[in-house]
Amino acid sequence: MATNRDTLTAWLRDAHAMENQAISMLERMEGRLEHYPELRAKISEHARQTHRQAELIEGCLERLGEDRSALKAGMGKLMGNMQAMSGLFVSDEVVKGALASYTFEHFEIASYKSLIAAAQEAGEPEVRGVCEQILREEEDMARWLGEHLPEITRAYMVREATGQPAKR
Ligand code: MG
Ligand code: FE
Repeated sequence: MATNRDTLTAWLRDAHAMENQAISMLERMEGRLEHYPELRAKISEHARQTHRQAELIEGCLERLGEDRSALKAGMGKLMGNMQAMSGLFVSDEVVKGALASYTFEHFEIASYKSLIAAAQEAGEPEVRGVCEQILREEEDMARWLGEHLPEITRAYMVREATGQPAKR
């Protein structure tokens, strides 16, 4: 048996690992992109946002009685489902990177929708509020990527078909 608070705490630790995974993916992609400045700027903006999200989750965990040093020690560990998804993220080609980012944002959206319900059930309104704020940022990023995927794809194809560097 686990208390609601224990369950919420475990899931917030997973969310913290997810955000750290997001930071490394976003920064790697930002560092590689050369010919897609609009996408690069958006990725850069979301990377900054994601650092803040990780801090907000750390704040929630502290409020629930977790100590910050234990959290730092666990930072390198990824959830099983994140590892399963990570094959998606090894490509340095822009269209595959955009598809992977879109997929990842939707995993984050699902995670925060679940965490909002968990925080509600555990009687933790402040945690719920934080998760609602982060959810909006993930939804904004997912929407932007969904709207821009067609033009990123077309730009890639034009560059590829005219002998310009296209992959990043
Ligand atoms: Mg995030
Ligand atoms: Fe995100």
